[in-house]
Amino acid sequence: MERSVRALLAQLQSGDTSSEALFSSAIRKAKDAGHLGSFVWLDDADNTREPVEGPLKGIPYAVKDIFCERGRPTRCGSRILEGFVAPYESTVTDRLKAAGAVSIGRTNMDEFGMGSSGENSGLGPMCNPWDTSRVPGGSSGGSAAAVAAGIVPFSIGTDTGGSVRQPAAFCGVTGFKPSYGRASRFGMVSFASSLDCAGILAQSAEDCATVLAVIAGPDSRDSTCASRPAEDYTAALTGDIKGLKVGLPASYWGDGIEELTREACQAAVSELEALGAEIVPIDLATSQLAIACYYVIASAEASSNLSRYDGVRYGHRSASARRLTDLYQNTRTEGFGAEVKRRILTGTYALSTGYYDEYYGKAQRVRRLIADDFTRVFTEVDILAAPVTPGPAFAIGEKADDPIAMYQADMNTVAVNLAGLPAMSVPCGFAGDLPVGLQLIAPAFAECRLLKVAHQYQQATDWHRRQPTGVA
Ligand code: GLN
Repeated sequence: MERSVRALLAQLQSGDTSSEALFSSAIRKAKDAGHLGSFVWLDDADNTREPVEGPLKGIPYAVKDIFCERGRPTRCGSRILEGFVAPYESTVTDRLKAAGAVSIGRTNMDEFGMGSSGENSGLGPMCNPWDTSRVPGGSSGGSAAAVAAGIVPFSIGTDTGGSVRQPAAFCGVTGFKPSYGRASRFGMVSFASSLDCAGILAQSAEDCATVLAVIAGPDSRDSTCASRPAEDYTAALTGDIKGLKVGLPASYWGDGIEELTREACQAAVSELEALGAEIVPIDLATSQLAIACYYVIASAEASSNLSRYDGVRYGHRSASARRLTDLYQNTRTEGFGAEVKRRILTGTYALSTGYYDEYYGKAQRVRRLIADDFTRVFTEVDILAAPVTPGPAFAIGEKADDPIAMYQADMNTVAVNLAGLPAMSVPCGFAGDLPVGLQLIAPAFAECRLLKVAHQYQQATDWHRRQPTGVA
């Protein structure tokens, strides 16, 4: 089927298809692909939906279970939010609705966004449409798989430490993480508030540009949302990239990167060179501190944010408690999965009196060094290129019992979040039968430049059009 937002908009315009036909075919495909575990809730009620007029009128999409949609169950991949129905709408989904897009359902995710594989959902297992014995990536694994499997032309995810780019790379779709503050976090369940960003998964950079124009921009309901208005991201896609300086940060291409992944990414860099870009090796050594820094800061913020799930206000409430402290303890023991508990314990420890300076305070200082290092390299180059992940999608269960190995797989994505930068995963080839993603990283709020480079690359290649066999 036609997977591109732009092509579907043209078909809707010419009358070759209708919004009802697109909606029902997306629902049917989601049901046929039930074995992927990508969805936790489908809007399959038999009522007619007349989309409103707007730039995405009639385009079906799927949204990660972390966004509140009024009247819909919002569980964030967690059993602790069982039974919670959002009383209000997130800004991102509100804007998509107002633009005429039609949500078909909610996608599966690692609980509260904590994970790099899709194995940490409290709502059921997920797998990769390219090879169902492999993980789709995390935490937006359901959103990435839903696009890869041709169920919806685009989906919405979130990226706190790589959760849009990494599953995009594993599932062979284009993943876009904007600058911190480019899109509102209002109505997005908080994991680590200083890092969380809404992001887009789609077939191409062009489609990401179309969707970004709808979701970006100031929001008075989120004080961390930037005041600058959204730009015309589609208009920015045209023009060549001759003379563009592409920096290759040595530490992102080092020992941890598997050979086939490196080769696919190197070929993509050669393609950029063929398009006229100048390739510049650079040093960005502070990014090697990013994993340690990220897992202290993200866990500290999570431990604070997740204190609200106490059995009193939302979702699950333990039936066995007799005293208030038991209510808190039993609810949290029953409702949270192992990884969430690990993060809460680590984060609480890092924030505790006596350890605060040693862990959280130090991590904040390291975060500044990492951000300053990016600022320095962006005086020398226009954009950075590197592999998104050390290797392609790994086997389900391969790293499940080894949290350190799982965290290590985020080595090339988390520094970007610590610095608040926009970045993408662009399909660039295969390692065996599994897709590989090239990461492009731009200075803060240089979304136009980022999308243009990705688009020019996709004009010259067709990796982003490849689909797994046996899908719609
Ligand atoms: N894999 C990272 C983590 O587990 C990033 C998650 C995310 O971006 N939501 O924290």
